[in-house]
Formats: sequence, C-alpha cells, structure tokens
Amino acid sequence: MQKKIISLKELTKNLWWSWDTEAKKLFKELSPLLWERNNHNPVELLRHISNDELAARCYCKYTGKIDSVYNRFEAYINEKDTWAARNAPELVKNPVAYFSAEFGIHESIRIYSGGLGVLSGDHLKSASDLGINFVGITLFYKEGYFRQYLNHDGWQMEDYPLQYPESLPIEKVAGPDGKDLIISVNIAQSEVFAQAWSLKIGRATLFLLDTNIPANESHYRNICYRVYGGDQNMRINQEILLGIGGVKLLEKLDIKPAVYHMNEGHSAFLTLELLTTELSKGVPEKEAIENVRSRCVFTTHTPVPAGHDRFSRDMMNYSFDRYLSLNGISMDDIMKLGTEDPYNLNGYFTMTVLALRLSRAANGVSKLHGEVSRSMWQHIYPGLPVSEVPIGHITNGVHASSWTCGLTDTFWRNYTCSIDEMTSSREAAEAVLAKVSDEEIWSLRYSLKRNLIDFIYRYLANQLFHQHPHPLYNDYDMMRSEKSTLSPDILTIGFARRFATYKRAPLIFSNPDRLNRIINNPKMPVQIVFAGKAHPHDDAGKEYIRQIVEYSRRPQFNGKIIFLENYNLGIAKRMVSGVDVWLNTPVRPMEASGTSGEKTVLHGGLNFSVLDGWWPEAYNGENGWAIEHAENIKSLEEQDHFDAENLYTVLENQIIPTFYDRNEYNIPTKWIRKIRNAIATIAPEYNTHRMLRDYVMKYYLNRKEN
Ligand SMILES: *Cc1c(COP(=O)(O)O)cnc(C)c1O
Repeated sequence: MQKKIISLKELTKNLWWSWDTEAKKLFKELSPLLWERNNHNPVELLRHISNDELAARCYCKYTGKIDSVYNRFEAYINEKDTWAARNAPELVKNPVAYFSAEFGIHESIRIYSGGLGVLSGDHLKSASDLGINFVGITLFYKEGYFRQYLNHDGWQMEDYPLQYPESLPIEKVAGPDGKDLIISVNIAQSEVFAQAWSLKIGRATLFLLDTNIPANESHYRNICYRVYGGDQNMRINQEILLGIGGVKLLEKLDIKPAVYHMNEGHSAFLTLELLTTELSKGVPEKEAIENVRSRCVFTTHTPVPAGHDRFSRDMMNYSFDRYLSLNGISMDDIMKLGTEDPYNLNGYFTMTVLALRLSRAANGVSKLHGEVSRSMWQHIYPGLPVSEVPIGHITNGVHASSWTCGLTDTFWRNYTCSIDEMTSSREAAEAVLAKVSDEEIWSLRYSLKRNLIDFIYRYLANQLFHQHPHPLYNDYDMMRSEKSTLSPDILTIGFARRFATYKRAPLIFSNPDRLNRIINNPKMPVQIVFAGKAHPHDDAGKEYIRQIVEYSRRPQFNGKIIFLENYNLGIAKRMVSGVDVWLNTPVRPMEASGTSGEKTVLHGGLNFSVLDGWWPEAYNGENGWAIEHAENIKSLEEQDHFDAENLYTVLENQIIPTFYDRNEYNIPTKWIRKIRNAIATIAPEYNTHRMLRDYVMKYYLNRKEN
C-alpha cells in the first residue's frame, strides 16, 4: 500500500500525466473538489490530502488503477524503440537544446503568456513522445503571467499570485558536487547569479533559471518575476539570463547539444556566448562565426517589424559593460552582428537579426508567414532576391493528446488505439471515421457542449460575484437569465486568444443590429463565448475587452454572449472542445500561424477564419469556412469593413443554415460531413508530431554537411 502512495507521488513529478487521460482521472478521482480548487495541480492536491485519507483511498479498487497507470508511465519512460531511435539516432545521442522565454505546459504552471508558450510546451511534449533527446531552457517566473479579472466596468484588472516551488513538480538542479547548481551571467557592472530548477516532461527536461536568490542584489532578484514584465531594461536582463545563462547552464551540466534551437529572438544572445567561447579558444573570428552558425537554428514568429525586440546601442553598452571587458570584445563587434544597417553601428541592435546571422537555418511558422518573413528580412541579405532569402517555414501544430479532452479521448479510443494513432495519417483518420455513425458524432457534440455550458454556469457564478458589488440584485438576475438561455441546441461560436488588437476580437460587433438579428433569430439562434487577456500595458486591447463585456450586458445579448475571465490552458481546452465553430479574425497577414483552431478539430469543432496563418494551407472549402481575402484594400478601416461584411454573410448564408439543416432524425448531415472532412484533413497534418518530424528532417539533422 505504501508502494502505491509512492507511485502516485512519483506520477505527480512528471508532467506526462498532463496528456494521459487515465492519469488525470486518477488524480481527479482522489478528490474532484480539491482537483478543481487547486487548478488541476496534483502536487497541491496531494499536499492537501491527509495521509490517512490517502491511505484509506488506496485500500479500495482505486489501487488497481494506480498500478496500471504507473506501469504505462514506466514503459513510456523506458521505451527504446522510438521514432527518433529509428529515424534520427544522432538526436538520441545528443540533445536538442530548445530555448524559449515561455512554456505553456499545463495551467497549473504559469510560466507562459500565450501562443508562443503553448507552442513551446507542445513542441517539448512531442519531442518526448518521439524519443528525441530534448532539453528546454527558460526562466522561473515567480509571479508568472497575471491572473485576469474584470472590474465592475468590464475593465481588465491584473493580479500576480506567487507560485511557490514547493507547489510545483520542480526540483533544484544539483551540480557534479551534489550541491545546488548556481551559474552566473554578467549584466551591466555586476555578476548576477541564478539557480536552476528542472521539470520533467515525459522523457524531456525543462530547465528554469531563477535569480531570486540571496546572492543577488534585489533589482537582479526581480529579473524573472514576471513573464514579459517590466521595461526595456528588464527585457534585456531577462534575455541575457535566458540566452547566455542557458548556455552556461548546459556547459556546467556537461550537456552537449547537437542543436541550439531559438524559439523566437528572445534567446538570441545564446549565440554571443557560443561565439565568445570560440574566440576565447583562439579560433579566428570568421571560423568562430561559422562554428556557431553550424550549431544553431532559429524560428521567427513575428510578422510585424515593430514586434521584434530592439535595443539601443546605449542600452547594449550599459548592459554588456562587464561582459565586454571580461571577454575582450568591442561593442562594434557585437553591434555589427545585430544591426539592420551594417553602415550604422550606432543604431539599434535587433535580436532577430542576430539570430538570423548566427543560425544555419531559419524558419517562419506557416507558409504565408515564411513568405512575409522573407520579404521583411530581405535587407539583411543584400543582393538576394526575396525568393532566395534563407528563411523557410514549418507550419505550427498542436500536441494532439494534450488538446483532446477526456470525453473525446475516450470516444476515439473506442474506435482506435490512441489519438496519436488516429492522427498519424489521413488514411488512419479516415479508417476510424468510417466506423463512426453520424448519430454518434452528433451525440459526442451534445455531450461536449453540455460540459462547456455546465462549466460556464459554475465559472460565471464566481466571476459575477466579484464583478458586481450587490450580488443579491444584479448577479442573481443575471445568472438566472444566463441559465435559461445557454443551450446545447444552439449553434455555439467560440473566440479566445490574447487580446492583441490585430486579432480584432470585436469585429463581429461591427454592426450590432445585424448581430442582434443573428443571435436572436428564434428559429436559428446563436450564442458566443469569448475569453482572452490583453497585455497589462495594452490599453487598446483592454478597451476591446471592455467593449465586448459592455455588449454582453445589453438586454438583447445578455446571457447569449459570454465573456469568461482569465483565459488559460484550462479554459482553452474547455472552449475548444465545447464550441461548434471557432472564430478567428486577425488582420491578414499578422497571425504568423495561430494554433487554437487546430485544437478544436478532434472534438468536432469547425473553423471559421480569415485566410491567415495556418488556415490558407488547411482550408479546402469543405472542412470549415473562410473569410476570403481581397486585394487592393487601402486602409485598416476598409479592411475591417470588408472582413466584417464577409463574416456576417458567411454566417447568415452558410454556417447557420447548415447547422440547422436537419434530416428526419434531426441530424445535421451536411454539418457532420464537414466535421468528418475537418478531422480527416486537419488533425493528421496540424499536430506537433508532424511538426517535430519536419524540424528533425529539415533543420535539426545536418546530414548533408556531415
Ligand atoms: C492555443 C492557445 C493560444 C494560441 O492561440 P492562437 O489562436 O494562436 O492565438 C493562446 N493562449 C492559450 C491559453 C492557448 O491555449
């Protein structure tokens, strides 16, 4: 019995459980209430359960389940016959070191802000599943990203609850001498120390650097308080720690990466550290640069010039003062690697430019984004035509088993072995679909929508309680109206993402009267669920939230348009599994890829999106809907107007009628045909297993040079 408890505790220490339905159930069954209250964090769950209660539970039939889950976990960890062992043995021997400022692994570990982090987390999980030797590098953010709540006026408020190491499955990394491993980086005039934590994610390890230790002055302890927190100075400090500190950590641990992968430019200083190491060995500069380039690859994510980190020469001088003098390098040497204009070493240092110059390969994250990036950075490659700018693309995916909710996972498991199997090829997906009837798919949709609506009621009760100062009046009236209106019979649209303004969350409100007629059509009603956070400094994004909340409180929309607070991985999963249609309305081509729409597909959700990011590649006319693209649009206003018209027209003429077009058994057969087409064409392609195999074959393996 003691052994079972030990197994259970072992399971909490590896995030493998987060993409295993049975493992998750094991924790939930222990205490559904504590599981909810502790944000699905098994470490906290076990901390709150007494030993007596745990022992009592482990005497019942629950015990057998612990064994079966634990055995599968052990088999997973020890598996030798992996995809990588068969296809890329080089990458089993030496790891890929993947640097990212954020990782979205699970809602209980708040070290991410949005899509970039979710991608990093999914990347890590797939690398583990495929058996690639893989380490991630990031920072340990003590306050993480903020928790969002709305005030009475619908304005976003932020709070920053601390996250404590003892509440998380992280452990201090020990050095070869068995003591806590401490590294240091030079920032401005100081030596700044960082301790390392590690987090197990299947077979992969994520290292987190943490300057919040007594050895540092207080302003350096704060470097990793918040994800993207603070000013430019904080930013450069975080990036020095991530890039340079990360390389030093790997050295201290004697980890010799086959590849350094920079996920976005934040970590590009890692190339400087690799370069100074080469130079200090006496390697001539040109050769040293080549040596660094041969080991680095870079993924860019930002299709707008202003979105890239740039630091002034003054700031570079200040921050690298000690680094330069200790390493005997001049600021000119560094500036020439990062300026966009090689004739002006006094301008700005651009992280993306450094990463491009010091990588052997670079890529955007969708076909369209690859094209945009090539023209955006052509000036870095004088003399090359746009088509030859060396930036390729690999389209982003999602980690299918992480993004499949328990109900859906069980549903598909009844027809096949696993989600991975089902998404391994179009043929595999079609073979499974052939075994499933329309009625079964429709019944799954109903269960999922019921779950979402039930969740919304419970969640809103809490949310409305603090939004309204007089709960006895407003809240209960509001709750009652909401309770009576949300229904699984109604076509449900979801929209959730960061509230960056280019994503245009309020586009669907462009014509409120028209939207009113759509939502309140008695024969074919529609309901919409929104969620999303604006960056704390982004007042325009917060204004978008306020507008949507204000609309949602108008009598004609009340209870039919819902805004859920505090978008995170957990809310995302609820939403993508429950909604019928996932709406996406960015200004083209500003969505580098987008991934949230890929999450909805296995649940039978359909995408309705501007032809931006991943969607132009995936959309085939039958697997969802598009807001078509128009050439020759002159202004943003014109673009908004054009896209909104298009959005309404497709909704009114195609989406809504198809959803409500039923056969004699009340089944929307045309709708379900689209669901089938979406699952067959999207799920096998837009997942991170496919994405990782592409990274391995195109970028991680450097076979032609070997
Ligand atoms: C998937 C996801 C994102 C990314 O969504 P996009 O469609 O790429 O904007 C952002 N935040 C969370 C919490 C997610 O789960």
